[in-house]
Amino acid sequence: MSEFSIIDDYFKPLNQIGFEKFGSKDLGIGDDGAVLSCPAGHQLVVVTDTLIDGVHFPKGTRPFDIAWKALAVNLSDLAAMGAEPAFYSLALSLPKACAHAEFLEDFAEGLRSISSQFGIPLVGGDTTRSDCLALTITAQGWLPEGKAVVRSGAQVGDQIYVSGCIGDGALALESLLGHYDSRQLDVSVFEKFNRPIPHVQLGCMIQNKAHAAIDISDGLLADLGHILEASDVSAHIDFSKIPFSDSVKSYLASTENYQLPISGGDDYELCFTMSVDQAETLKTQLTDDLQIYCIGEVCKQSDELIVWRNLPPSLQGKLKQGSGFQHF
Ligand code: ADP
Ligand code: MG
Repeated sequence: MSEFSIIDDYFKPLNQIGFEKFGSKDLGIGDDGAVLSCPAGHQLVVVTDTLIDGVHFPKGTRPFDIAWKALAVNLSDLAAMGAEPAFYSLALSLPKACAHAEFLEDFAEGLRSISSQFGIPLVGGDTTRSDCLALTITAQGWLPEGKAVVRSGAQVGDQIYVSGCIGDGALALESLLGHYDSRQLDVSVFEKFNRPIPHVQLGCMIQNKAHAAIDISDGLLADLGHILEASDVSAHIDFSKIPFSDSVKSYLASTENYQLPISGGDDYELCFTMSVDQAETLKTQLTDDLQIYCIGEVCKQSDELIVWRNLPPSLQGKLKQGSGFQHF
């Protein structure tokens, strides 16, 4: 299997997905570079994420899921900026043991599945051989000029929302590492871990409303901390308002390890701050499949970044600030 046959057989077909939104003078895969037009009055938003075998997904993960997750985490970053996804590129480092049809077909199918859901083409990339499977996706989206939702915009009095259950990613990993019996977990916990669904629609909906947003990839505690630090504010958070799935609830009941769901990564929910009025408007616009949960509010900067309400006794005085997933 040559580099060029891999590109032609598996990646070129993914260029067709959603490419009709570009003009006749635009170019995707096949030349030295892609040439793409951005709609007038819009800004381009660029995000990149790398996934490495054994670091960002457990060894033995299905190729479909590796590909899905690689694109999903990028789309989640775009959503957190309030951007609409437009296209993406893929730098793939492939060990010889993976350069066969069975692996590549499943991998391409994973990309096809998630990219069709959001109508975005693969417009280019690079394919190399290496000892370790690694992939870097760069995704690009756009938003009307000046409408980016940044981390630094949170205002005193804003309500703080999350888009869904917290801690499923961390619990799935805990169980895959053999630290918790996987039979205790609902399959949805592993589905969310392997095929997270990026909050693309909600991201576009908060574009005109949220003062600040981030996606929860390194844990609620750490990622909310980034918003608060960037905005020079603190927060009141009510622990009892944080939404947990039934699996996380029963994990907490049996282990009392309350730190895990708020410090573990891989949730890909959005966390955003918004005025009470804007939140009321947003709630009237949400479709049935979207929910948001208010977990607290932004307050004036104080010694503590987060002032807790209803914190479980075992966490009182023990919560390490900024204790999310760290690479180094
Ligand atoms: P060059 O040598 O000019 O860098 P390549 O031979 O690496 O070009 O790539 C040929 C074409 O295939 C380019 O358009 C490139 O963007 C595309 N391509 C290469 N690898 C991938 C990939 N993994 N996914 C998508 N497109 C790819
Ligand atoms: Mg190249």
